Order: sequence, then C-alpha cells, then structure tokens
Amino acid sequence: MNKEKLEISIPSFLAAKKRNNDKIERIDYKIEDKYKDLGLGKTYAIFTYGCQGNVLDSENMAGILEEAGYRLAEDKYNADVVILNTCAIRENAEDRIWGVLGQLKGRKQLNPNMVIAISGCMPQEEGATKKLEESYKFVDIILGTHNRHHLLKLIYNVYEKKMRVVEVLSGQGNIVENVPIVRNYKHKAFVNIMFGCDEFCTYCIVPYTRGRERSRAKEDILAEVNELVKEGYKEITLLGQNVNAYGKDLGNDYTFGDLLRDIDKTGIERVRFTSPHPRDMDENAISAMAECKSVMPHLHFPVQSGNDRVLKIMNRKYTREEYLYKIKRLKEEIPGISITTDIIVGYPGETREEFNDTLTLVEEAGFEGAFTFIYSKREGTPAAKMEDPISDSEKHKWFDELKKAVDKGYLRGTERFVGEVVEVLVDGESKSDLGMMSGYSKHNKLTHFKSNDKSLIGKIVKVKVKEAKSWFMIGDLVE
Ligand code: SAM
Ligand code: SF4
Repeated sequence: MNKEKLEISIPSFLAAKKRNNDKIERIDYKIEDKYKDLGLGKTYAIFTYGCQGNVLDSENMAGILEEAGYRLAEDKYNADVVILNTCAIRENAEDRIWGVLGQLKGRKQLNPNMVIAISGCMPQEEGATKKLEESYKFVDIILGTHNRHHLLKLIYNVYEKKMRVVEVLSGQGNIVENVPIVRNYKHKAFVNIMFGCDEFCTYCIVPYTRGRERSRAKEDILAEVNELVKEGYKEITLLGQNVNAYGKDLGNDYTFGDLLRDIDKTGIERVRFTSPHPRDMDENAISAMAECKSVMPHLHFPVQSGNDRVLKIMNRKYTREEYLYKIKRLKEEIPGISITTDIIVGYPGETREEFNDTLTLVEEAGFEGAFTFIYSKREGTPAAKMEDPISDSEKHKWFDELKKAVDKGYLRGTERFVGEVVEVLVDGESKSDLGMMSGYSKHNKLTHFKSNDKSLIGKIVKVKVKEAKSWFMIGDLVE
C-alpha cells in the first residue's frame, strides 16, 4: 500500500486550548449511498480502552460499520477492519495499546488488506500522533475524537486510493445526532448528554482531546431515552466528562437537575450518570436525585485530593470543606447513598502531609470505593512542567496505603447490606462462578446469586444478601 498521506490535519494543543466561540454545529448523521455496501462480505473488530465514553463511541463505530455491511469478526486479530479506540489519560493505558499494535503488525504482514485504524484520545495528542506517523506506518487510518462519523469515508479512501489517511481535527468539536449504534447490552445503555470539557484540570488531557463543553439538546436526549424505554431498556447511564455541567453552554436556565426530572418522567426504571464535577453539584441536582425514583442511590464523585493546596494547583475549583459539605447534603437528602470517587496520588510537589489529608478524607467522606491513580505526566498539560521531587517508589508506597484505606470502604459498603433484600438488574451469568447469575444493586454493588435461569437477564430481581466481600455480594433469589 502506498503510504503517502491523503489528508493531514494533526492536532495542536494550542488550537485545542484556544476555544473559538463559533456556534456548535448539530449534524444529522446519514450514510452516503456510495458507502452502503462498503463492508459487504467483510468483518470488523474494535478494541476499546478507557472510559465509558469510549465504550459508547465504540458502540457507535460498530453501528456505522454494520450499516455499511460489515459483520463482527470472530477473531479480533483477523478482521478486515480493526479499530483501536484509545485512551490517553495515563501512560500505562497507552503502553497496552502500543503492545496490541505490535501484535497486529504481524497479522497485517499475513493479510496486507487488513485496514488498521486508531481512534479516540491518543491520536488527539501531539506526541502520540507523531509516534504513530513515524514508527507505526502499517496503521492505515488515524482519526480523532471529533471525526468518528467520517469513519466510512476514511476507510473508503484507504480502499480506493491505497493511501494512508490521517484526519485528526483540533478545536471545539460539534454534535452529531442519529449515529447508528450496536449496543453491548439489551437492557442497559449509555446516553451521552454532553461532550468535551472546559475545566482544564492541570493534569488532564481531556479538554485538549475532546474539545469544548457542548450539551445535546434536551429534546434529542429525551427522544433517545423514550426510544430506549420503548425497546425495553431498564437502565441508562448518562455520560459526560463533566456531566452535571449539562446545559451551562446552552444559555438557558435548564440545568442537569431539570434534565434528571424530565428523564424520570419517561418511565425508565434506572438512571445513573458519570462523572459529575463537585463544583457543579448544585442543590437542584441533589434534590432531583432525591426526588426522582429512577435515579439510583449511588454517586461517583471524583475528588482527586483531600488537600486544599493540591486541589488548587490541580485547578479543581473547590476546597476539601466544600466537597465534604456536598457529601453531607447528598447523605441528608438521599439516605444510604453510596459514594465512590477518583483519587490521584503523587501529584507534582505533593508532600507526605498533604497526602495524609487525602487519607483522612477517605475516612471522613465514607467512600465505598475509588479508582486510584498514580499521577502520570501528560505532555502539553500545565502539570507536566511542575517540579516533581517525589520518587516513584515513595509514590507507590503512598498508593498502597491509599488502596488499603479505600478497600476498607469497599467492604463497609457491601457489609451494610448483609441480611437485606436488594433489587438487582441481572446482567448475565457470573464470570467467575458457574451456576451463579450476576447484576448490580441500586447502590451499584455487584451481586451474585444462585441460578441458571437465563430468562432473568435484563430483569430486576430481589436478592437477599447473605455474604459480603470487598468487590461483590452473594445472596439468594427471593421469590
Ligand atoms: N471528568 C472526570 C472528573 O473530573 O472527575 C474524570 C475524567 S478522567 C477521564 C478519569 C480520571 O482519571 C480522573 O478523575 C483522574 O482521577 C484520572 N486522571 C486524569 N488524568 C490523570 C493523570 N494525568 N494522571 C493520573 N490520573 C489521571
Ligand atoms: Fe479532566 Fe475531568 Fe478535569 Fe475535565 S473535569 S479536565 S475531564 S479531570
């Protein structure tokens, strides 16, 4: 294949940071006639890394490909089109992706017609794009987060012109509606309500890779939810990098809390959302969570650090006290709510005393789980230029201490349900235990119960909890 590039548009952090104030375009996706049979007799595979936003993007790319005739490959490494939908949040996510690319290189030597595409946040990074261009020449398509809906055009260009295609657009991004979708589950679905992020936390790459904060029209969201209810879906998870900033960019008074109330009226049984920013968790959102029967009593509420100086240099725009006040309000309004969080350890310049504040916050907030991360330097972000005197081994020590504190919270969070009857939305057979089925309780606790009855998948059943482990609960079906 001729490796000259057909289109070049590489990302620029400067361009990404300089948001323009152009009106966000709302585009209706429609497949062009010339692509309708593009994939007939061909297969596809998608490797997905990172956040739930990426999972949803992959479901959309699967929808786009299937509409053009592609079918899911049985062997992921042998498909006609292989997409790696990537994550750039931390270095170890990137390392795994380079590893899979290495394996695909060998496969492509055996099957030169295989088309390999890289999408998602990694190509949106200046450094990674250069590396892909220079050292991974067997990758045929490099596309960013803003132009996923051009996927068929890019594949077509590779087929027709036998050329490599690089199309990574920087800037604000737009909103594309009516993108086809193949959902991973028949009973629970992700629904994007907003895209991008304007927060610019100093460690984070997302505002550069995902563009300006932009909310979907509430009519489009409600139409999608109504359709899901009609199709029998039981649970939706509303997605956004800063999900509770929903509506701020639309310039009217309609906020996240109002959207929760309207979604509740659609009749969907369960609503979850991720990830809210503590600064934007207002009283309207808290009271909507309390009043709407469908909104589940679990909140993933990323705090990042328990120390005010660290929070400030992270640009989180809240203090420890303000965060804890919101937790208090949530617990008052939604008794028994389960709260989980994200925490970064070893931020540049963080001291042992400052880290201790994070440890005490874990106790004080009563977290029932946390995603914990060792700070990972992301080129182009402000934190990458900060002095970082703490050694890696010291950071790992802190990390282990934090994990111990967090694990105690996990166990406390499941033990409180022993002897109680919980409602579980059944996902399927347990992955680890034959003869068991599994699903999540309202408080988002993975729950296993003895049964072989596959007809329960997608139903909400009652389970009496008899045993609590850190990561799951075990119980018996209640007739
Ligand atoms: N928007 C969400 C928020 O503000 O909480 C989170 C989005 S981010 C994709 C998920 C988590 O990754 C963050 O909450 C943070 O804890 C972690 N993260 C982001 N950048 C990181 C970095 N450079 N090093 C380590 N962890 C990072
Ligand atoms: Fe990244 Fe979340 Fe901060 Fe946005 S709010 S910059 S996505 S950590």
